[in-house]
Amino acid sequence: MKIHRLKTWPEHYGDVYSEKKKQDIRIDDRGFKKEDILILQEYDPETAKYSGAAMIRVVTHVLREHEGLKPGYVIMSIRHPGQISGACALCKCTDTNCRQCIEKTGQPCHWVNPEHTLCSACAFEGEEVSHA
Ligand SMILES: [Zn+2]
Ligand SMILES: [Zn+2]
Repeated sequence: MKIHRLKTWPEHYGDVYSEKKKQDIRIDDRGFKKEDILILQEYDPETAKYSGAAMIRVVTHVLREHEGLKPGYVIMSIRHPGQISGACALCKCTDTNCRQCIEKTGQPCHWVNPEHTLCSACAFEGEEVSHA
């Protein structure tokens, strides 16, 4: 199981977030597999900036080399993971225990989604996030 951090354009971010969009088409350059975790980071290509919002999705199916699908691309089916609000789904940090994020990044994390299930230390590892 791998974790992939992927830029997601604002025009798609909302539809994936609301689960209207349950597929993701990507260039097949990371060996995507079923059960992999996608961290979808909202990113605006016009300003070349991350908004600071991100979400987690789990890959349930990977379609490649299929009629009508451009070679070198995959279509992933994705689902919302079951999550407990108030704990990061990846590093398990909480509002009251964030020591590991501080050790990793030098500062406390913050939540990047309204459900409080994904922290900034996991969602953005090294990416420059502008807080507009
Ligand atoms: Zn985390
Ligand atoms: Zn934390």
